[in-house]
Amino acid sequence: MLISGKDYIERLSSYKRDVFVKGVKVRDFVNHPNIKPAVNSIAFTYDLAKEKEEYSPLSDLVGEKVNRLNYINSSPEDLIARLDFQRELSMRTGTCNYRCPGADAMCSLYPATKELDERLGTDYHKKFLRFLKEIQAKDYACTGALTDTKGDRSKRPKDSRDMYVHVVEKTDDGIVVSGAKIHQSGAFAADINFVLPTQTFKEGEEEFAIAFAVTPKDEGVKYVLQNTGFQAKLREGGEFEPGNPKYGDRLTCTVIFDNVFIPWERVFIFEDLKAERKALTNFANSHRCAGAACKAGFIDSMIGAASLMLKANGLEKVPALRQKLGEMVGVSEAAYGIAIGAATKGFDDFGARQPNVLMANAGKIIGVEGFNKVIMHLADIAGGIPVTAPSEFDLKNPEIGALVEKYLQASPNFNTEERLKIIKFIEFWATSSHLLGGIHGGGSPAAAIIFLQMLADINSKEGAVKETLGLKK
Ligand SMILES: Cc1cc2nc3c(=O)[nH]c(=O)nc-3n(C[C@H](O)[C@H](O)[C@H](O)COP(=O)(O)OP(=O)(O)OC[C@H]3O[C@@H](n4cnc5c(N)ncnc54)[C@H](O)[C@@H]3O)c2cc1C
Repeated sequence: MLISGKDYIERLSSYKRDVFVKGVKVRDFVNHPNIKPAVNSIAFTYDLAKEKEEYSPLSDLVGEKVNRLNYINSSPEDLIARLDFQRELSMRTGTCNYRCPGADAMCSLYPATKELDERLGTDYHKKFLRFLKEIQAKDYACTGALTDTKGDRSKRPKDSRDMYVHVVEKTDDGIVVSGAKIHQSGAFAADINFVLPTQTFKEGEEEFAIAFAVTPKDEGVKYVLQNTGFQAKLREGGEFEPGNPKYGDRLTCTVIFDNVFIPWERVFIFEDLKAERKALTNFANSHRCAGAACKAGFIDSMIGAASLMLKANGLEKVPALRQKLGEMVGVSEAAYGIAIGAATKGFDDFGARQPNVLMANAGKIIGVEGFNKVIMHLADIAGGIPVTAPSEFDLKNPEIGALVEKYLQASPNFNTEERLKIIKFIEFWATSSHLLGGIHGGGSPAAAIIFLQMLADINSKEGAVKETLGLKK
């Protein structure tokens, strides 16, 4: 089923959740200024799916159209359609769609549970399919929680048990889990939060090798929101002062599991190192591939902002600045192209199509490098004003407003308010959580480089050079 953004918001409003913002437990969390932008962004994933029929394939499980972000891909075309959907979402909202890690969790649990059952004769896959069917039938918004707080990074998880989500009790009906996941994008605004491990584990660390799903019914889950300068700006309000007031930046939280009971029906991996490794590896690749397409969409948004800024400043004909726009387009298409290459040259894993591992990880690395370059170009084109401009409130102040209007005017084709809106949007891109989200989302660059080092066929490349040079050894 495809529901509308409005339906999603109505359903979300019926949930009771422990959400904390800046030290205060929030009552109407859906309409809180630090949460509403994430709700708007997720709502847009519903509305765009309805608007674009090609993004809503028929599902085998429910025989109905389902959102691309609740779909198990079985062909390169499926993967490509999801990447296109994400690029468009990123460009049109200028922020995270929040459902992407949920989609990656589903696409990685599908093969992991199937392999697990074939190996052990268990019924994890059947349980997973039942749950997936419910997700598709109700068009739930799903997020993905992997990153543990980890504590002292030099210690193994078993020596730092509380810093990793782990099982504290096992009963006939289910498990009780404790721990916390940090940096969680949009979990407070989702219907379902899939919880997967943050890393692979060794023998003796089985208690951490678990995957399960959290629903709004589960008790003991607490959400503590991030609090950056951008969040303060969102609370401060204004029609356009926060730059992207409707959709915000990457709104994240720490999710604390305080002895949360999870019924067996929603436990999809339990203390199995092999299944956990498969789920995690597929998740990382899928997320890095999707992340490259998503970065392309973000860069598209920055290209739009840069081009408008050039016009608002009367600089649109300057070749040196126009060249920067061309370079930004090159980076966007390169990130997208790598994602499409990874989707095209991927592989089947127990019926779920996965992107090419080398290319997906290359997409992460090139995407991060490109993202930095693009933000630098955007800042260069914009001048210093995104971090020095007066506020919307000054512009509207009866005493100083007319003077601010006069001195911040540039090209006659844009009035001061329009120019200030573009300036604030660029401030948002350059100073919000997006840059660090781009660098670390889907794992820090070092994690992707490890995959590239491990999997690259360096020998064949050495061999080619030896042959060219006539070297014997
Ligand atoms: C905006 C944003 C949104 C995010 N959204 C999500 C989400 O929705 N779901 C989710 O699960 N995660 C999410 N993440 C988390 C992201 O996956 C992590 O930030 C990333 O995995 C790095 O973890 P960390 O931030 O804890 O960094 P740290 O672990 O503190 O790492 C810092 C640096 O140290 C290195 N390092 C760490 N440990 C070691 C070690 N033992 N040996 C050698 N080097 C080490 C890392 O490579 C990195 O360079 C998000 C992050 C951001 C910034």
